[in-house]
Amino acid sequence: MSDCLFCKIINGDIPSNKAYEDEKCYAFHDINPQAPVHVLVIPKIHLSSVNDICEENANVVAHIFSVIPKIAKELNLENGYRVVTNIGEDGRQSVKHLHFHILGGKNLTEFMA
Ligand code: AMP
Ligand code: ZN
Repeated sequence: MSDCLFCKIINGDIPSNKAYEDEKCYAFHDINPQAPVHVLVIPKIHLSSVNDICEENANVVAHIFSVIPKIAKELNLENGYRVVTNIGEDGRQSVKHLHFHILGGKNLTEFMA
């Protein structure tokens, strides 16, 4: 998607602070961190949100979740962390390319909403 911010980050058209990369996904530090550690993990294929996940592409999401523990370990989050994904307007999704927030580096608040 040529007008997608995160596709541009994957292509290197917009700079980012890389945390991890492989053939299927890319992870980078959030520009406006909400916790001491705030990393976004995104698929290299453009999916708009969780609502775009289907049988044919679910392997990419499974792969991302297999990689998240490795990224968390790399980021010294052995005491725990949170994985969040926002969907649509009510979910306050601001970038329409599927992404999983990894939040940690402190004892997070209990609030989910
Ligand atoms: P969401 O609100 O779930 O769509 O999350 C989008 C996230 O992308 C927010 O936490 C933003 O701070 C982050 N973000 C937006 N632009 C950039 C960028 N250029 N580099 C890194 N993170 C970004
Ligand atoms: Zn995209």
